[in-house]
Amino acid sequence: MVIDIFDSTLRDGAQAEGISFLVTDKLKIAKALDELGVSYIEAGNPGSNQKDLEFFKEAKNYKFKHSKLVAFGSTRRCNIKAEDDNNLNALLEASTEYVCIFGKSSLFHVENIINTTKEENLSMIKDSILYLRKNNKKVFYDAEHFFDGYKNNREYALETLKTAAEAGAECLILCDTNGGTFPLEMAKIIEDVKKNVNAKIGIHAHNDSGMAISCSIIAVESGVTQVQGTFLGYGERCGNANLSAIIANIELKLKYKCLPDGNLSKLTATSREIAEISNFKVARTLPYVGEAAFAHKAGMHVDGVYKNPKSFEHVDPTLVGNERRFLISEVAGKSTVIAKIKKLYPEIKKDDPALNQIVNTIKGLEYSGYQFEGADASFELIVHKAFGNFKPFFEVENFKTIGEGPSETDKYSASAIIKVRVEGEEEITAANGDGPVDALNKALRKAIGRFYPIINGVFLSDYKVRILDGKESATAAITRVIIESTDGFYTWSTVGVSKDIIEASFKALIDSIEYKLYKENK
Ligand SMILES: [Zn+2]
Repeated sequence: MVIDIFDSTLRDGAQAEGISFLVTDKLKIAKALDELGVSYIEAGNPGSNQKDLEFFKEAKNYKFKHSKLVAFGSTRRCNIKAEDDNNLNALLEASTEYVCIFGKSSLFHVENIINTTKEENLSMIKDSILYLRKNNKKVFYDAEHFFDGYKNNREYALETLKTAAEAGAECLILCDTNGGTFPLEMAKIIEDVKKNVNAKIGIHAHNDSGMAISCSIIAVESGVTQVQGTFLGYGERCGNANLSAIIANIELKLKYKCLPDGNLSKLTATSREIAEISNFKVARTLPYVGEAAFAHKAGMHVDGVYKNPKSFEHVDPTLVGNERRFLISEVAGKSTVIAKIKKLYPEIKKDDPALNQIVNTIKGLEYSGYQFEGADASFELIVHKAFGNFKPFFEVENFKTIGEGPSETDKYSASAIIKVRVEGEEEITAANGDGPVDALNKALRKAIGRFYPIINGVFLSDYKVRILDGKESATAAITRVIIESTDGFYTWSTVGVSKDIIEASFKALIDSIEYKLYKENK
């Protein structure tokens, strides 16, 4: 059986707090979704949003391989003719083969929110679908507040569906608009709908009770053939049903098809790309596509996974394009470190003396306050250095920072001077910054950037400071700094430890730049 995936990241997802898509962002996301191969991309509401109308005009220049674009709108307003409704006419202007309109299925909403009669609401549904079909559109009908409406007045809710089916909607999508329905209750209602309405059924779930994925999956098990949702669950309030998990669940667990053959392995990359364009990070613990989804830490688990991945993994991470990770920590022990080294150097023999050397180096550094669990890039550098595969790209001769206080909002509060040497050539640069660490970061990049311009495209995306008190007094405590850097596509993390926060930050900064240069030049 084939399940149609209907992505609404560009429409319902755009309602999320913190999201504001430009037309170019929307085009990029639509292309990524098409590459992945979802069936439908709901791209906006041309009737209510000028930007969305512009998107549909732009999108005409692009040939989609797998996905059909869908324009979104609503049934006609009360007491006017369908052909006089601006919103419906804007849908025609979007020039898509498919349109999706929502209408009221809940008598409570009909009588109390849009203040009309139950008969007029049924006419609104019927007239709108007929008008769109007369203009050669294929119509999906979103039954808004369907589950709440069903509980409020079952007969009327079913009546709205029958009306839409008779008017010729391609699929009736049952919406849990407020996100409060539980899976078993949903399954019973869908069963009743199937008995009484002769049409294809879809599901549109929101996550207000944390059930959106469960509800979508049980709906598929109950016989719906279209699942609406958004990537990474973006959406208003607690978000929509998260398609990145739903797609993997449908293909790997329910064994139904929803993507073209071979495309499931693009799932992680697509998720990260959409997050990046949306200016969000993929939550680490997100099922299937999160960075921690296949990350093992406890020593026994690592040992087990190393012997046979099935011991602590529900699916093979490569099926969804993700990867297995071993986290370094005191809990993990030697087997984790060795498993991580083997990922970088698969051909290494068990008795290679370099292995013990690296394990001892890591243990020594951990003892002095380092932690590599959140600093994969620093760990990798240690390994490459131990194998003699790392040649320094630059040397820092010295640096100096000068801070001034109190800091004022319109002035830089610090400056830094740094002297570096690259292949015998010396460079001295200075920079101002908001605080000494920022000034030092800028001065270092300016100095190195002259020799390696690629560094100019690297940015710090996160900066975490942790004071490790130990047994010493607070002022002599050790500072651990973890820096996350990005070049827009990849992110990597590095660590530095010192009694001095500036020096700790500096060590992490150096690792970040060395890591990028190593990756680019190896
Ligand atoms: Zn919605």
